Amino acid sequence: MERTLIILKPDAVQRGFVGEIITRFEKKGLQLAGLKMMVIPKATAETHYAPHKERPFYPGLVRFMTDGPVVVLALQGVNAITIARNLMGATFGSKAAAGTIRGDFGVSNAYNLIHGSDSPEAAEKELGLFFKSGELVDWTPTIQPWIYDLTGTKPE
Ligand code: UDP
Ligand code: MG
Repeated sequence: MERTLIILKPDAVQRGFVGEIITRFEKKGLQLAGLKMMVIPKATAETHYAPHKERPFYPGLVRFMTDGPVVVLALQGVNAITIARNLMGATFGSKAAAGTIRGDFGVSNAYNLIHGSDSPEAAEKELGLFFKSGELVDWTPTIQPWIYDLTGTKPE
């Protein structure tokens, strides 16, 4: 099972989409392994988006991400990183496909509701940045045998 770090950005919280977005992930079959509400400290936002440090949108992005509360999730599942990114949709709200979170709920290219890790390396780094080890919960949903085919050597 893979884990990914999801942030429901300040616009998602302010616009009341927290439940709606979490519901989409739950309905898909991705499992919650961590969840908390916080205001991201500036230094944490800077570290999180350090790969974009040289980009013109970086200062505004850090301001946006620290401008109000966010909800941070750890989601778990086979290929959770890619599955979550597909549910999120393309980066720009103006271009994201209908049916995706960004495609359905926003028009902005900057205020695009949600962050999701884009690789296993990023996920590990980002999960470590936002969650202490004890804050992530190891559990198995009782419904698991109906989410995956568990009759073989690995979940299918
Ligand atoms: N962003 C922006 N302007 C841009 C590109 C990105 O404001 O031209 C913001 C946007 O909020 C995006 C974040 O920077 O989600 C990180 O960009 P990235 O390319 O990593 O997109 P993502 O991985 O979030 O789809
Ligand atoms: Mg990214």
